[in-house]
Amino acid sequence: MKSISLDAHAKINLSLDVIGKRQDGYHEVRMIMQTITLHDKVILETRDTGIEVGCDKPWVPGGNDNIAYKAANLIMEKYKVTSGVSIKILKRIPVAAGLAGGSADAAAVIKGMNELFDLNLNEDELMDIGKQIGADVPFCIRGGTMLSEGIGEKLTKISSFQGVDIVLVKPKVGVSTAWVYNNLKLDKISLRPDTDFLINAISKKDIGSLAQNMRNVLETVTIEKYGVINDIKNELRRLGALGSMMSGSGPSVFGIFEDSEKAHRAYESLKDGKWECFVTQTL
Ligand code: ATP
Repeated sequence: MKSISLDAHAKINLSLDVIGKRQDGYHEVRMIMQTITLHDKVILETRDTGIEVGCDKPWVPGGNDNIAYKAANLIMEKYKVTSGVSIKILKRIPVAAGLAGGSADAAAVIKGMNELFDLNLNEDELMDIGKQIGADVPFCIRGGTMLSEGIGEKLTKISSFQGVDIVLVKPKVGVSTAWVYNNLKLDKISLRPDTDFLINAISKKDIGSLAQNMRNVLETVTIEKYGVINDIKNELRRLGALGSMMSGSGPSVFGIFEDSEKAHRAYESLKDGKWECFVTQTL
């Protein structure tokens, strides 16, 4: 029996623009993706046959409804793996929260199975497999700070933005990504991010400029339904964040802080409230 344990990291969006809608219904995006230290643990173990998926949180689907199962199944079929795998997920990333928790687990399974079964696939091959599972999976395989285009699968590395202090807040609502995109009116978007300006701010490590100019065009859709997102954005700023924004399709909101002392102070005043809170860092 062989086993391997991996950290499956969440992501936040430092910007999110939707440029158009393709004939096939997918949206074309332009967004800056950023890995953060907050992570699930994914433990893989060889077994005689089949795929078994379990999670320590009962609200996360097990078995073949879990995205980790789909990733394992694809690898099994494509590379004719004859033995089985057991997958255990220790869930720490809030679910349906705009943090790509499921995609992170799938990415960990793809990387882990590559090692566990000595498949010797390189990163591009792993990302190709990831693309078939979900648009965010290739990013989760690579991680870091990336410009993501197309439907999310075209990735370009930008300067590192590691070690920036973040407070992450998740209100007690789950948001379906599909619902948000379906309700987005492309002709009504009035405030778009200046993505090139933000990339430049990142390359200069100008955290203040980045934080004050971040934009996510999906905010208007999610905030219209869940006003609490706006309350959290304001609260984070009141507690000293240089800027705050919703991640992905929400409802998670993050604040960027100048230093970890300020971030911890903000976390301390938020953590006993009605929201799930994390103090984390960019990776
Ligand atoms: P994204 O930002 O990529 O849209 P998200 O963070 O909003 O992702 P997830 O946490 O990935 O959303 O969950 C989306 C849905 O996928 C949930 O409704 C959940 O039930 C289902 N799901 C399946 N497998 C997993 C998994 N391993 N972890 C979390 N959710 C999973």
